[in-house]
Amino acid sequence: MSMTADYLELSDVRVTFDGFRAVDGVSMTVLQGDLRFLIGPNGAGKTTLVDAITGLAPATGSIRFGTTELIGRKVHKIARLGIGRTFQTASVFEELTVLQNLDIAAGSGRGPLTLLRARTSVPAVVEETLETVGLAAHVGRKAGELSHGQKQWLEIGMLLVQNSRVLLLDEPVAGMSGEEREQTGALLRRVGADRTVVVVEHDMDFMRTFADSVTVLHAGTVLSEGSVAQVQADQRVQEVYLGE
Ligand code: ADP
Repeated sequence: MSMTADYLELSDVRVTFDGFRAVDGVSMTVLQGDLRFLIGPNGAGKTTLVDAITGLAPATGSIRFGTTELIGRKVHKIARLGIGRTFQTASVFEELTVLQNLDIAAGSGRGPLTLLRARTSVPAVVEETLETVGLAAHVGRKAGELSHGQKQWLEIGMLLVQNSRVLLLDEPVAGMSGEEREQTGALLRRVGADRTVVVVEHDMDFMRTFADSVTVLHAGTVLSEGSVAQVQADQRVQEVYLGE
């Protein structure tokens, strides 16, 4: 099988804080089109691993995006290569409209004053993204007025207009209603079809419904990996979760 260029390949990744091994030799490969869930008890190293991929945490080993090594590159360089990340608290510009938020993310070069004037045309990528993330009916609303779920979708949209090829999402459905969860799952399926998506998640029901594959971290190492059924049947995973 030939791999497409957008896969993420981690090999023996380690992150140490004052001698404490938060990530202790993680190897994993996430292919384009795979919706990978990264789970594990609190303190397992999930956030630190995502920090390592995005360049926020100093790591050793190898993290490759296709043939490009990410370790050693600066945060903004990694982002510019197409590695996008969201946080639990959506970082959108609350005082600006949905459209303005996407415009800024798209880096259209328009200054703030131009952005505030009435618009006659919307760039195709922004228009497409509004549909993809289900916010077309909300273009003129201030981001601060959106529901928690809608803000998360806007943030994902901001990554899409930046042409992110890898999406690293931190608990995207935390605090969402049941309906918003379903919509988010459908959104991840859509955007994940031709991207590489890693979802850090505590919500096991959401994981069971939408994961293509799962990596379970424990104490900085990969405890188990495979399909939802495979990791659920893994005795070691059951022990870790029962012991929580
Ligand atoms: P998770 O996201 O799975 O809950 P984290 O990656 O946040 O786990 O944390 C993994 C371990 O690394 C924890 O024991 C945490 O206390 C520790 N840790 C995380 N960041 C730092 C840091 N900046 N300095 C020291 N220890 C840290």
